[in-house]
Amino acid sequence: MKRFVLVGGGPAAVAAAGTLREEGFDGEIALLTADQELPYERPPLSKAFLDDPRHSDGLSALYLRSPQWYAEHGVTVRTGTAVTRLDPAARRLALADGSSLAYDAVLLATGVRAKPGVRLIDDKVIRLRSAHDATRLRDRLATATRIIVLGGGFIGCEVAATASRMGKTVVLVERASSLLERALGADLGRVLTDVHRSEGVQVKLGTIVLDCVSGADGVTVRTDRGDVEGDLVVVGAGCEPEDRLADTAGIATGNGIVTDELCRTSAEAVYAAGDVANSYHPFYRKHIRVEHHDSAHRQGAVAARAMLGGAEPYAEPHWFWSDQYEHTIQQVGRSEPTDRLVIRGSLEDLSFSAVWLREDRITRIAALNRPRDVMAVRKILFTNHSVRAEDVADMGNDLRRLTRPARIVQRKEPR
Ligand SMILES: Cc1cc2nc3c(=O)[nH]c(=O)nc-3n(C[C@H](O)[C@H](O)[C@H](O)COP(=O)(O)OP(=O)(O)OC[C@H]3O[C@@H](n4cnc5c(N)ncnc54)[C@H](O)[C@@H]3O)c2cc1C
Repeated sequence: MKRFVLVGGGPAAVAAAGTLREEGFDGEIALLTADQELPYERPPLSKAFLDDPRHSDGLSALYLRSPQWYAEHGVTVRTGTAVTRLDPAARRLALADGSSLAYDAVLLATGVRAKPGVRLIDDKVIRLRSAHDATRLRDRLATATRIIVLGGGFIGCEVAATASRMGKTVVLVERASSLLERALGADLGRVLTDVHRSEGVQVKLGTIVLDCVSGADGVTVRTDRGDVEGDLVVVGAGCEPEDRLADTAGIATGNGIVTDELCRTSAEAVYAAGDVANSYHPFYRKHIRVEHHDSAHRQGAVAARAMLGGAEPYAEPHWFWSDQYEHTIQQVGRSEPTDRLVIRGSLEDLSFSAVWLREDRITRIAALNRPRDVMAVRKILFTNHSVRAEDVADMGNDLRRLTRPARIVQRKEPR
């Protein structure tokens, strides 16, 4: 009987397990995760998990699949099981407990790890990546009143929003000149910065964190622009791919584990998917690595089919969302600096879509509270569509109609 091993306890590995069974694989499936818990969703960890009483009983509401599902699908989940080494020639994995496991094919879905940076201090300076971190953060948020968040990326902004809504005093420290600048650009970043400020968050931009020092009254964050005092510091400052297993096995890496469009690595029978994978994308014709829940899930399914000999590439648009206060940010696609930016809707009313165009094609959309626009673009992003900037900007036009292939070729006037 064949044995397929899935390394990781996130959506990529779990989607792979489900797809293997859906596609009729009747061999052994072992899912190994270093986490102590069954595979769970991470997105709620910076949002509802921190303050919603429905999560006070633990993680079960976040499980990607129930314990029964694994039993019914013959998937053996080994929690608290870190893989320490991969030997592609022998097709064997070494585990942290000293044992080893042979495989016929293995999927590396090991996600990302926090970048080393600020020194963590027990219960005072904590980071947020895992359920373990989130549980500690939730416990500390119950008593801490002055929260300092380091890093104005998505996780930092989400934690700041949640803590602020809990009535905490929040200081958000960011090195760039606006929040979310790297992900959304300076224009949209400024809008989001204003949102946080209007919610009472003190946003310190252009500020470099030097160190954190524990004291009797809490903790002091030393920055190049002076000290910030608080009870609790949450570090949300960047991640890097957890690609060490591949790297030490001599498998090609570079901004993650390098794969082709079928999630195959440079070693036979070794596949990679999710946040850790830097995969060739047939539409963009280059390698791309993203850190999005939806992409991890979909790529896990593609990897599973490839493990069974399938040849369906991962060729989806990359989509993600972020919830902050009552606002939802969504984005799909990728743009180049030379693409033209068209704003649809009202920045002031916090209901707009930023749409990037290359000639008459949409390359990317980032929207605040306009999910329908994003879904419309998601559907047509990789189709041979054609739109006019003024039609996109006109709120009288339903983007879904505008981007419908039959309509888009009908132009009122020649260009
Ligand atoms: C707090 C937070 C909020 C987020 N919010 C959003 C959001 O709103 N929207 C969105 O699109 N995305 C969000 N994300 C990102 C999203 O969660 C990830 O893109 C997704 O989880 C990636 O899935 P994955 O399967 O690739 O890896 P992960 O879910 O990161 O799982 C990796 C797994 O590999 C295991 N592992 C690592 N090394 C080993 C080893 N050597 N041996 C065994 N196991 C190992 C880990 O323990 C872990 O279980 C968020 C992430 C976090 C942390």
